[in-house]
Amino acid sequence: MLWQYAHVSLLITNIGELVTNAPRDAVSVSSPGPFEAIADAAIVLDAGLVAWSGPAAEAPAADEVVDAAGRAVLPGFVDSHAHLVFAGERGAEFAARMAGLPYSAGGIRSTVAATRAARDDVLRSNLARLAGEMLAQGTTTFECKSGYGLTVADEARSVTLAGEVTPEVTYLGAHVVPAEFDGDVARYVDLVCGEMLAACAPSAKWVDVFCEDGAFGADEARAVLAAGEAAGLQPRIHANQLGPGPGVQVAVEAGAASADHCTFLSDTDVDALAASGGTVATLLPGVEFSTRSPYPDAQRLLSAGVTVAIASDCNPGSCFTSSMPLCVALAVREMRMTTAEAVWAATAGGARALRRTDVGHLGTGARGDLIMLDAPSHAYLAYRPGVPLVTGVWRSGERVA
Ligand SMILES: [Zn+2]
Repeated sequence: MLWQYAHVSLLITNIGELVTNAPRDAVSVSSPGPFEAIADAAIVLDAGLVAWSGPAAEAPAADEVVDAAGRAVLPGFVDSHAHLVFAGERGAEFAARMAGLPYSAGGIRSTVAATRAARDDVLRSNLARLAGEMLAQGTTTFECKSGYGLTVADEARSVTLAGEVTPEVTYLGAHVVPAEFDGDVARYVDLVCGEMLAACAPSAKWVDVFCEDGAFGADEARAVLAAGEAAGLQPRIHANQLGPGPGVQVAVEAGAASADHCTFLSDTDVDALAASGGTVATLLPGVEFSTRSPYPDAQRLLSAGVTVAIASDCNPGSCFTSSMPLCVALAVREMRMTTAEAVWAATAGGARALRRTDVGHLGTGARGDLIMLDAPSHAYLAYRPGVPLVTGVWRSGERVA
């Protein structure tokens, strides 16, 4: 029955609040614009894209109609930082941390060992489960890093598997120095910049490095990002999570799309991000929540004019949530972002951090990625924390959850 496959346009109308973040410069349809919401709105999706949005009273006709009954509609979340290719779990480590007890079962190295030992189908089904969780909670675009393989073959396998679930694949061979390279960081960095990079670059878009005391220093981070760029990858970085350090400066020097964590920043770091013109500060409040650590100062960044994104950092160690609604609630309640700032950071901000112009907003021509909340406004994401408010998800114009 061929008619089933003909494309149909969809009108969602009677929307209580439509968050668009629409580009202000309608000519270029480039980056998302500032936070913008329309009351009593409608939106038309056609051929996978946003074809029209505006007041419900002015909506054009479409083949199919969905009545939102006063609910809010938002762009799908863009989660620009996640570590999903792994095996095993670390629930006991978390419980010990919360109980204030020492725990020495290996931390990240236990995940590396489990990941190396896992069959492809185990890693693949774990990835599918987490990607499904994300979609059900409104995440329509996500980034996924390697970094628990740390051998040439295991990193290459990780980026290949990540590429089966997202185009935003990040090569993170420089996540941690594996045990077999203890005391010889330089030799491991050579591997990361050489044979391992060559094996991973064809399947990745981004290169990342964990620049922190006890991981990789400024010169090592510069070497990893430069080698990645020479292999056609774009830089991003883990920076200033555990203490002050050079990570943000390295990010700005390298023209990185994003410096992630940004928990411990000097005034010079904030100024550098503000002046960078393209390096987003990606905040990961689920990490501070899950490790009972101080949160980054979001308002300091925002008032300096830095572009701020929020992401989950979903990983089995420091933060095992895939929930962007939780991250929005934490950003509002713990980092004192306004509800509008937090929702913008979780949608348009994430798009900026991935240098994507087609997602994170619902301007005309954007990808038809949107979520409906069982609530009248975006503010309910923080007002009703922990309640599953995402009641519908559309990706490329198709209802998927
Ligand atoms: Zn991370």
